[in-house]
Amino acid sequence: MSQRLAHFIDGRRTALDAHRSGAVFNPSTGAQSAEVALASKADTEHAIASSQAAFESWSQVTPLKRSRVLFRFKALLEAHSDEIARLIANEHGKVLSDAKGELTRGIEVVEFACGMPHLQKGEHSLNVGSGVDCWTLMQPLGVCAGITPFNFPAMVPLWMFPIAIAAGNSFVLKPSEKDPSSTLRIAELFSEAGLPDGVLNVVNGDREAVDTLLTDPRVQAVSFVGSTPVAEYIYATASQHGKRVQALGGAKNHMVIMPDADLDQAVEALMGAAYGSAGERCMAISVAVPVGEETATRLRDRLLAKLDTLRVGESITDGSDHDMGPLVTREHLEKVSGYIAQGEQEGAELVRDGRAFDNGSDGYFIGGTLFDHVHPGMRIHREEIFGPVLSIVRAASFDAAVGLINDHEFGNGTAIFTRDGDCARQFCERIQVGMVGVNVPIPVPMAFHSFGGWKRSLFGALHVHGQDGVRFYTRMKTVTARWPSGLRESTNQFSMPTH
Ligand code: NAD
Repeated sequence: MSQRLAHFIDGRRTALDAHRSGAVFNPSTGAQSAEVALASKADTEHAIASSQAAFESWSQVTPLKRSRVLFRFKALLEAHSDEIARLIANEHGKVLSDAKGELTRGIEVVEFACGMPHLQKGEHSLNVGSGVDCWTLMQPLGVCAGITPFNFPAMVPLWMFPIAIAAGNSFVLKPSEKDPSSTLRIAELFSEAGLPDGVLNVVNGDREAVDTLLTDPRVQAVSFVGSTPVAEYIYATASQHGKRVQALGGAKNHMVIMPDADLDQAVEALMGAAYGSAGERCMAISVAVPVGEETATRLRDRLLAKLDTLRVGESITDGSDHDMGPLVTREHLEKVSGYIAQGEQEGAELVRDGRAFDNGSDGYFIGGTLFDHVHPGMRIHREEIFGPVLSIVRAASFDAAVGLINDHEFGNGTAIFTRDGDCARQFCERIQVGMVGVNVPIPVPMAFHSFGGWKRSLFGALHVHGQDGVRFYTRMKTVTARWPSGLRESTNQFSMPTH
């Protein structure tokens, strides 16, 4: 008997009219674990109305008091971390230690948002003209919306709503319908921490709910994380409806391995970055770019040896974790398998075929896959596969490696492994990518920096969390004020003032 998952509105779980529903599966077994309500337009409007009403009073709560609710929220997230990690692992399929890691990175954003009284102070200039002062107010916007992907059901929502809410906004979140349980539990804990009803509402749903959020005039800002075609649609539609938008899209992340790199370190890093979370990370490395034939051959040999020891299996075990679990759904497994077939047809050399993996279960498993001699024109290089498939694209020189990355339509993350500081420095300066690692394979910025890609990996001007996150969820008002000396002198001024 599968569980029924509802929305979280006005501080409680509610199914509202629940005309439509979707199935949630445990990817490790292939069994359906829940039925999730899919919000109608009316359901979503109900959530927006609730958040609109909550904004009126929440925006008047002092920043210090708002931040104290976030401190309590952080403590509750930590106290319930095992429970939340299990919810993630059971619906997403990532292994438990990885699920805990995801939650930790999300909690760090809550910690950052706890500093909102400081972050929201604005600027002040005394005497911009004689007796004239100027200052900025960073005011909340109103109802903000977040639409999030399946691959980080805890971390990505936590990139958004803690900052928005700490800044005085209210929030309607539409998580992925594939793995909504951890997100719902997190919203419940925020409520338990003392967040007033309606400040955070969660509606489960699909395009019907999303379109309502994108077009409703009460929604002021939309944060999106997901695939590039949907990100582009979200950006265009919400902007057309007058909202500010940040829409983070897909990725194809390259790691350059220079001939002087510590190859053991590079291979260790590459294994985790390519195959961790079954490659379902927007910062996963899916392309290894060894520079020079000799580096390529050494890299390939060591990767093959490591692939022999990759432990693939259920996301939750009685003993130690596997290295990687299953993919999220059967459809996604078919898509990733299709890309492997495509790579073979395109003439890439399939060095290790993960489709051969079989642990006898009905889960959505695939083994670690390695292609060599992949070329830039091939679809397996151009498109995001989002599975445990690593491609080796051999580059003749450093310049060729940089050119390869800069020519790609995505620009989310990249890394270089080298011992040469000058080479690393050149790389950081010339590369057309938003997040760069030097001997760090997955350079995800900490909560107090901002996260975001370039090119078709992000639509909009501002990245998420860090200072950009605060800017995104606040509207700047600049006040220029003079207290006239009254009777002491005339205030008549007919020409532009020059100070
Ligand atoms: P997705 O684009 O399919 O879905 C994301 C969200 O959009 C979900 O909530 C979904 O319900 C909704 N959605 C899906 N199709 C829609 C449509 N046609 N109209 C309106 N809404 C729609 O993405 P996903 O498969 O859940 O997540 C994987 C993708 O997310 C990958 O491409 C990955 O690279 C990307 N991602 C990017 C980042 C980043 O920071 N750039 C982070 C995590 C994931």
